[in-house]
Amino acid sequence: MSAFIDARTVPAGTVLEPDLAIFGGGAVGIALALALAHSPISIMLFESGGMDFDAATQALYAGSQAGVKYLPLDACRMRYLGGSTNHWGGWSRPLDPIDFEKRDWVAHSGWPFGIETLRPYLPRAQSLCELGDWIYDEATPRMAALAPLLRLGEGGVYTSWFQFSKTRDDVLPTHFGTRYADDLKRIPNLRLYLHANATALKLNGNASGLESVAIATLSGRKFTVKPRTAVLAMGAIENARLMLASNVGNQNDLVGRYFADHPIPRDTATLVSFAGDIAGYYFNAGLLSATQIRATLAPTDAFKRSRKVLGSLTTIETPVEMDDLARAAVVTAAEAIGADASNAKAFSVGCGLELEPDPERRFVLTHERDALGLPRLKLINRVSDSDFLRYRETMKELGRQLLAAGTGMIRLNYDTRAEWESALDWGDHHLGTTRMHVDPKQGVVDADSKVHGLSNLFVAGSGVFPTYSASNPTLNLIALTLRLAGHLRKLPR
Ligand SMILES: Cc1cc2nc3c(=O)[nH]c(=O)nc-3n(C[C@H](O)[C@H](O)[C@H](O)COP(=O)(O)OP(=O)(O)OC[C@H]3O[C@@H](n4cnc5c(N)ncnc54)[C@H](O)[C@@H]3O)c2cc1C
Repeated sequence: MSAFIDARTVPAGTVLEPDLAIFGGGAVGIALALALAHSPISIMLFESGGMDFDAATQALYAGSQAGVKYLPLDACRMRYLGGSTNHWGGWSRPLDPIDFEKRDWVAHSGWPFGIETLRPYLPRAQSLCELGDWIYDEATPRMAALAPLLRLGEGGVYTSWFQFSKTRDDVLPTHFGTRYADDLKRIPNLRLYLHANATALKLNGNASGLESVAIATLSGRKFTVKPRTAVLAMGAIENARLMLASNVGNQNDLVGRYFADHPIPRDTATLVSFAGDIAGYYFNAGLLSATQIRATLAPTDAFKRSRKVLGSLTTIETPVEMDDLARAAVVTAAEAIGADASNAKAFSVGCGLELEPDPERRFVLTHERDALGLPRLKLINRVSDSDFLRYRETMKELGRQLLAAGTGMIRLNYDTRAEWESALDWGDHHLGTTRMHVDPKQGVVDADSKVHGLSNLFVAGSGVFPTYSASNPTLNLIALTLRLAGHLRKLPR
């Protein structure tokens, strides 16, 4: 069993020369190391943090922001082994086929390949995330047999399903660091360095490949890695930061651009169910074959195409008290379509939205530096009017379908973009800063996740997603990482 190595004990000036170096020990770094276990290549994984949260290490993530309010950059991710899975919610759903398409109503859309390329890797990704059986939208008839679905008239919104990473101690989804630490220690061809921060990338003489990576610890120790091949797996924000700070892969000024997350406007609407209660699986994850699963409401692909909207997932949240006036209005509206609303109940509605790719939603370097001397980032955040309006289209369709079925109605709670923006929360899903495209003028990495123009540097994680879908990223980014592992296994040693 190879114990983890504390980088603070590595002699200063050491030069390490593995076949493969992975920088970052979050979901991606861990999945990649596990996938390459027992392969003939020697692997070194360099993780900034230790086994637990440490405030000084976490502070390396701090940065600033402008524009639409986002989360503090040192509070929307975690910097120790396991990365942000130490704090994730475990919500999971595969991308849909339409997410990979070049759509004429979505600027900059289109992956270099379709879902069929990712599909072979999804089952293993599902298992690493401990998501249980692969059920998702197959759940509809089985859950409907347990409790009735919210009946919708024919139209563009349907009940879609999320699954959840296995809950531990009743509250925690899989934390990759603690869950896989022993497995990592058993990998004979892996050496894992903790407290090891990648601080600079250096290219070779003719700038055709990566030559070395500088490593520093907060205790002041410095050494160098000269890998044959390297993978940046530090999360979308930090991968972009290191590339920008090192001026690597940015010949077309694309690194850090197209950043996205899923905006989550809280209490975005009120949904009234004329019959009163709604099945519990709309509010909390229900159990199906020991798999945790929750119903949401989402636009169909046909609706996305015909109304030019993007992905969204609408959740039904907590009950809302209706005053006498609101109740009377609901009863009257229901009577007009021949429905009885005397037992009606109202519920707050939440959602997660897909944003349109935007090159100007981006990270830039600032003159401020962190404790290791790396420039801090500033986020310039934007949400477009069409992002706001598109979601309203989907909500109006949901309202129309509820009325058509005689089961309920919807009231949108924010009429103006400004009101809506003030209710925005975010999913902590970092996407798009090193986007994938076959054309170097439109993407930082190629279809194999290799940085354009460099022979041996790869980027992994949701930073390479060209479009984002409304699905949570981790299951999908792990599948993409497993595909990358397939390429790396074939590299010359
Ligand atoms: C509060 C919260 C809730 C979330 N909920 C969900 C959810 O419900 N569903 C979902 O799919 N996703 C969710 N996510 C997102 C999910 O956690 C990420 O998609 C996933 O962790 C990304 O994996 P990663 O390996 O790319 O990055 P990370 O997990 O962030 O790992 C990056 C690793 O790199 C290390 N690192 C950083 N800089 C350096 C450096 N310079 N040198 C060496 N190492 C470095 C970090 O310490 C970290 O361990 C959530 C995230 C948060 C914060």
